Amino acid sequence: MDLFIRNAAEVVCISRTGARDKTGSNLAEPEAIQNAGIAIDHGRIAWVGPMAESQDHFQGATVIDATGKTVIPGLVDSHTHLVFAGSREMEFEARLQGKTYQQIAAAGGGIQATVNSVRQAALEDLKEQARRRLRELLAFGATTIEVKSGYGLSLEDELKCLRVIAALNREGPWELVPTFLGAHAVPAEYASNRAGYVRQLTTEMLPEVARLGLAEYCDVFCETGVFSLFESELILTRARELGMKLRVHADELTPLGGGELAARLGAASADHLLRVSARGIEALAEAGTVAILLPGTAFFLGEAYAPARRLIERGAIVALASDCNPGTCPTENLQILGTIACTQMKMLPAEVLSAFTLNAARSLGREDRMGSIEAGKQADLVICDVPNHRQLFYHFGVNHVWQVIKRGRVVHAA
Ligand SMILES: [Zn+2]
Repeated sequence: MDLFIRNAAEVVCISRTGARDKTGSNLAEPEAIQNAGIAIDHGRIAWVGPMAESQDHFQGATVIDATGKTVIPGLVDSHTHLVFAGSREMEFEARLQGKTYQQIAAAGGGIQATVNSVRQAALEDLKEQARRRLRELLAFGATTIEVKSGYGLSLEDELKCLRVIAALNREGPWELVPTFLGAHAVPAEYASNRAGYVRQLTTEMLPEVARLGLAEYCDVFCETGVFSLFESELILTRARELGMKLRVHADELTPLGGGELAARLGAASADHLLRVSARGIEALAEAGTVAILLPGTAFFLGEAYAPARRLIERGAIVALASDCNPGTCPTENLQILGTIACTQMKMLPAEVLSAFTLNAARSLGREDRMGSIEAGKQADLVICDVPNHRQLFYHFGVNHVWQVIKRGRVVHAA
């Protein structure tokens, strides 16, 4: 045995029966063990159970004493835009003064402002900035992180962003999941030729990204004034033909029907969903498309929150993510997002943990390897300096992480 975590006040397993996801009332079941231990061998969980039954599982192992602490699965952040340059605090202030999105964009803000900064930035510079955000996410407990391109919006600049993600994934200790989001916005140079940009995406950018194997997923910002349902379907269908799996920015600002589209195309996830319709909820639940909710974005924009309770009641697979980005959610603190999910979306602490672990892993096709603390799974664990999982979100605004373990190795210590 390589590593043994002993005497944890609570180990929140999330699943103990090999579940692939958690829905309905099951989402609130932490499947926790009190006064527990975890044995790790060759980067995998070999045993988890009550200390009274630990027998000789710690023979020869390095021991971590977790007395008074809570162990949770490594958090999976399934939606980030953390490869960017520059910052948009002027826009933040303008929004506080009541300026609209259109006024902000006209004054040089919005996604296009970040696109301009990213196009000017060197790959090494982008990499260093993204690495700093990843370190921060890791310190808050994220061990696997989905990262989207989408601030390049030209073949060359999108490839630059995807190469940053690939390089940082090789570097570790985190595991990154790359998503191509060339359809994040129509870039300024195509403002009067939308069809031209969609053609550029489907005939040049997507085939080249696929050829280079730089993205596992393709995502589209399906929204009124961004990409229509028709354009989104065109782009997503092409991506699927090229072997990519799908994610959709859906029903964030208007109930356009992105949720229904994601379900119909068999997308892995539909994200945001602030304005998802009743039909959209049913479609997502039926298709098993993960509903990824981003409470930090609604909080930061002062918008109404996604209908988490209705999604859970209807049986949808609900996940949570940060949406870490410079415009609408500049944070890496997943714990405070959990508190927002509790107080504003009425999710219970155990539901928040299931949504940030197993269900998020499911949306990334990694639920067989991560997202729960069970024998055989990858040893991605977070030891938190709280005596039970409720305190993680109850005592808010501080970082409760004590140690982060990725593939059986301690990769961060407070
Ligand atoms: Zn997003």
